[in-house]
Amino acid sequence: MVDARQEIAPASVAFPGDPAYAEATRVYNLAGPARPAAALTATSVGDVQAAVGYAAALRQGVRVHTTGHSAAAAPPMDGALLIRPLLGGGVEIDVERRLARIPAGTSWNAVVRAAAPHGLAAPHGTSGTVGAIGYLLHGGVSFYGRKLGMAANHIRAVELVTADGRLRRISADEDPELFWALRGGGGGLGVVTAVELALFPVADLVAGAAFWSGKNAEAVVHAWYDWTLRAPDEVSTSLRIMNLPDLPEIPPMLKGGPVVCVAGVALGDDTDSARAHAHGLLDPLRAIGGAVLDTWQDGGPEVVPEVHMDPEEPGAFIGDHFLLAEPGRDGMAAFLRLTGEGSGSPLIVAELRQLGGRFAVPDPSGGVLNHLNQRLAYMGAGVPALRGTPAEIIEHCDKVRAALAPWDTRRTAPGFVKGLDRPRGHLTEDDLRAVDHVRARVDPDGLFRGDAMPETVLGKRSA
Ligand SMILES: Cc1cc2nc3c(=O)[nH]c(=O)nc-3n(C[C@H](O)[C@H](O)[C@H](O)COP(=O)(O)OP(=O)(O)OC[C@H]3O[C@@H](n4cnc5c(N)ncnc54)[C@H](O)[C@@H]3O)c2cc1C
Repeated sequence: MVDARQEIAPASVAFPGDPAYAEATRVYNLAGPARPAAALTATSVGDVQAAVGYAAALRQGVRVHTTGHSAAAAPPMDGALLIRPLLGGGVEIDVERRLARIPAGTSWNAVVRAAAPHGLAAPHGTSGTVGAIGYLLHGGVSFYGRKLGMAANHIRAVELVTADGRLRRISADEDPELFWALRGGGGGLGVVTAVELALFPVADLVAGAAFWSGKNAEAVVHAWYDWTLRAPDEVSTSLRIMNLPDLPEIPPMLKGGPVVCVAGVALGDDTDSARAHAHGLLDPLRAIGGAVLDTWQDGGPEVVPEVHMDPEEPGAFIGDHFLLAEPGRDGMAAFLRLTGEGSGSPLIVAELRQLGGRFAVPDPSGGVLNHLNQRLAYMGAGVPALRGTPAEIIEHCDKVRAALAPWDTRRTAPGFVKGLDRPRGHLTEDDLRAVDHVRARVDPDGLFRGDAMPETVLGKRSA
């Protein structure tokens, strides 16, 4: 039976059972399936406006996603209309003004491919398959971030369809309050149809990933940590303990036990200075000996989305995240004890992402989340089909959290939050109130309210 909603729906709106519904609700993180009442892939601004008008007429909540990388952290979509913007036109580069116009639906790989031939780079993260808009709205912890700060600080304008169906251009001069709230405010403000983003010039860089067997983990972990205490802002890195599955795409030397990996990007004014910065990191690590794979080498911005080797295929990722204060050697030892060889960890990856540098510097012209002044970001994730049951993964995440409790700042970076049941605290209570005030102005009926990321720690509230 066709209900009244389906009869008045614009042609592009699809319902459960339609292939177009399956396409629009596809997610990268299968641990957070999207099950809205209806869904559409919007290929034009007109599609977005028609869908918002339809939902408003029905007083139906609107949800937005692109790739579903954050699907497990999104509240359930019961009863909502899900819009997946996939707008055409491609990435446009203004070489002179060093700007990219990025239509919604674009992943970072496409931005990097468009910018790199001009010697320009974008402040993307470790994965090229992540959606540029979702990442930027969450603040964006870039793999260039110690030099550039939060990625969202580089947004110059946002094109946004609001609850009244209007397409607005939002910038520092055009509704600065909404521009502030969009950059890290947790969403729920409308459908972004494009972003104008400042690029930066990169002549040469050195980037890669070096892996050691778990037996060397203690030496590598402490050498990396000691380097982070004096690291130049030109270098951004992660340290990961990985238990990689026996899959064809995984190099054989990385299988069969925990490996420890140091990956990153070193910038410089020229090739020699980029190499010098990379050597400052790599020399003490290489002196440990026994690396099983080392891909660090000279390159350009086009290689950066590859170096972290983040998984590209969808999977059910269950995990945890929080931001750490200075852990010292005790904190690093606690991390290793819970995730390294002999720990019995079911986690596929336990990562410490280096913050500091420009990440820690407030940007008065940035959005509500314009800096992170913690020392490291911890992320841990498991995949039940590959290692451990969901219960075992969750239990182990809790053990890591307990072991790192003395250094847990109870703050989070919104993009890294792995699940709805995990504590989160991106903003202060004052900032949350100010963002809510903007939401109430641009969306008085709360059409997009369900799309706002819930906070549970500092804001002491949930969705
Ligand atoms: C393998 C992997 C690597 C990652 N690496 C990094 C990293 O290095 N640095 C980092 O900061 N983050 C990283 N992330 C996290 C990533 O930035 C977030 O998951 C981000 O939300 C992804 O955006 P998306 O649009 O692809 O995801 P989605 O799940 O599709 O979207 C997430 C949310 O963004 C909002 N949204 C998306 N598109 C729109 C739009 N057009 N209009 C309005 N709202 C929209 C919605 O609220 C949606 O719920 C990584 C994630 C994964 C899985």
